[in-house]
Amino acid sequence: MKRIKNVKSPLLILIACILFMGCSKSSDPSPTTSASVPDVFKKMYGATSVTTDGTYITIKTNGLPDHTSVYYATNNTLYENFSGATYANYTFSKNPNVISSQTLTFKIPLNPAVASNHAATPMGPIGVSINGIPFFNQYAAGGNPVSNEIAGFDQWWGHPQQSGQYHYHVEPKYLTTVKASKSALLGFLLDGFPVYGPLENGKTLVTSDLDTYHGHTGVTTEYPNGIYHYHISADAPYLNGSGFYGTAGTVTQ
Ligand SMILES: [Zn+2]
Ligand SMILES: [Zn+2]
Repeated sequence: MKRIKNVKSPLLILIACILFMGCSKSSDPSPTTSASVPDVFKKMYGATSVTTDGTYITIKTNGLPDHTSVYYATNNTLYENFSGATYANYTFSKNPNVISSQTLTFKIPLNPAVASNHAATPMGPIGVSINGIPFFNQYAAGGNPVSNEIAGFDQWWGHPQQSGQYHYHVEPKYLTTVKASKSALLGFLLDGFPVYGPLENGKTLVTSDLDTYHGHTGVTTEYPNGIYHYHISADAPYLNGSGFYGTAGTVTQ
């Protein structure tokens, strides 16, 4: 008996080590997802939690990109000198801000519905991408066109504002080229309607293919019965046009 035990123990330790390593291998924060949250929200891989009260979906994130950026502090492992192509071939010009951790809570309708008055999108977060980074609208600070800021977008086409909050105004290139694809679900706006990349059924959509809110109704992979959804396009206003299609939830930060 004793000899068998001695052989078994190192084996058990080895198995335990392998299991432990397997579980801790991923560098993505693991979202805690409650059972009643629809499967589509399990694509929010960058969220720290996704829950629902039956009326709203609550998505919490720390706002830290899971990709490299020239805007991380230089001692951060995800800091990387600017390389690659700027958005629309602007000459890269770094802004003075540094990425910092955020406390973001997005509360979006579980069952999104069209609004009678299509409220304008606010400054700051208007939605959340699957890696937990906020989407911003087509305006820079002060309501100026975001083209004033494009030269400062990093290699993945995002940048931080003054308080270090990293965000995307345009196509999140890391998601469309590395983590997902040009035709994939990229996140949700505050009204609960999903956001997709520019490619649909083999066609790259531009603003003139979409309605005034920058979307249309149709079948998607995640919504086989059809749903209103936004598309990101390469041309302005990139993500959202004249306000939310639906009634927006809230974001606290
Ligand atoms: Zn910005
Ligand atoms: Zn579509």
